[in-house]
Amino acid sequence: MAVSVAPLRDEAVSLLQALLRLDTVNPPGNETEAAELVRGFLEEAGVACELYARVPERANLVARIHGRGEGPSLLLLSHTDTVVADPAEWSVDPWSGELRDGCVWGRGALDMKGHAAAAAVTMAVLAREGFEPAGDLVFAATADEEVGQDYGLSWLCREHPDAVRTDYCVNEGGGDWVLVDGQPVYLCSTAEKMSAPFRLRVHGRSGHASMPGIADNALVRAARLVERLADFSPPPRLTPETEAFFTALGSVPAPAALAESVAGLPPDVRAMVEPMLGTTVSPTMISASQRVNVVPGLCELVCDCRLLPGDSPADVEPALRQYLGADGYDLEWVEAVGGTRSPLETPLWEAIEAFVAAEEPRACVAPVVSAGFTDSHFLREAFGTVAYGFFPMRAMEPELAARLVHSADERIAVDDLELGTRFLLHVARTLGG
Ligand SMILES: [Zn+2]
Repeated sequence: MAVSVAPLRDEAVSLLQALLRLDTVNPPGNETEAAELVRGFLEEAGVACELYARVPERANLVARIHGRGEGPSLLLLSHTDTVVADPAEWSVDPWSGELRDGCVWGRGALDMKGHAAAAAVTMAVLAREGFEPAGDLVFAATADEEVGQDYGLSWLCREHPDAVRTDYCVNEGGGDWVLVDGQPVYLCSTAEKMSAPFRLRVHGRSGHASMPGIADNALVRAARLVERLADFSPPPRLTPETEAFFTALGSVPAPAALAESVAGLPPDVRAMVEPMLGTTVSPTMISASQRVNVVPGLCELVCDCRLLPGDSPADVEPALRQYLGADGYDLEWVEAVGGTRSPLETPLWEAIEAFVAAEEPRACVAPVVSAGFTDSHFLREAFGTVAYGFFPMRAMEPELAARLVHSADERIAVDDLELGTRFLLHVARTLGG
């Protein structure tokens, strides 16, 4: 049965509206409601579904169209939880799913119930057609992405690996349309930085605050380090992703000209590319004396720190210590998570390029490294899955979309919802064909 575009669009809109009307703010999440809703929709289309839940109210849905066992498997990944919303800040009820000005409004419309609805509609359309892919086509709508307390994909990968083990995955985290020197570019996230926060314990000598001269104020010492850390910027470095990014745009700058080339990018693109060039450090938390009249002998400073994929804290620490100077503090890494990458030359990349070429012949696709953590990491780490973040958007300006995610008046353009659905259909048919 051939499916024309109008029903596709309507189906995606109405499923998204139904999803937005469920409050799945995490915490507490309550994602089971969303999993049940999508299960009802998919089973009606003949797609086999399974719910997996560590606790009953936080279910993950996994749906599958079985393949012929002759080709790679593909996972369409999404999450159903959202961050909180304050109705006082919104122009509409954040759980209304209202259709207004060509957009569907509600908390999670962009992050990422829109993408989830598009993927579910993709599964339904293909199942109704009797699509039999070469390898399994899997759809997962998982819990707990926003907080990450191990109810969602991390738990599935560990406890039910057979449900989500796949060769390829399309996830959130990319698909933005940007313009560089008149060239339209779709950004595809193929890797992500490692999140490796560290703690500095800055030492001084405590004393009565009425006589500062007798003490050595650890907070004041720390203040100097905070300023130093805020200016930390190691020499920019090319990675396979940045190299491919500049290749897509025309030419790869020489290492010495890298900083200059990035400075010349449009501001929205520069903000995305700058973190791809090296370690970033942001001092974010500080604590010192508990009493106003006691000069602290110890000040604790915690910094958010993101490393390029492939780097480890041990690689970065010597440069950091050298930059800060040798003594007066202890440096301790709090944790190190993420930092995985997928190869760039793959059938999934080709499928994305082919879609963009057909959709917008002048446009190209360029890889980016996500500065933040995504669930793609768990798949790369557990199964070596080639996982990319890509959900094309071009009706809504990327600056506006970036501003709306996790903020008031979050909404997705219906045109983008349809574009994303057509993209997922294209990828499923291409890899499964
Ligand atoms: Zn998300």
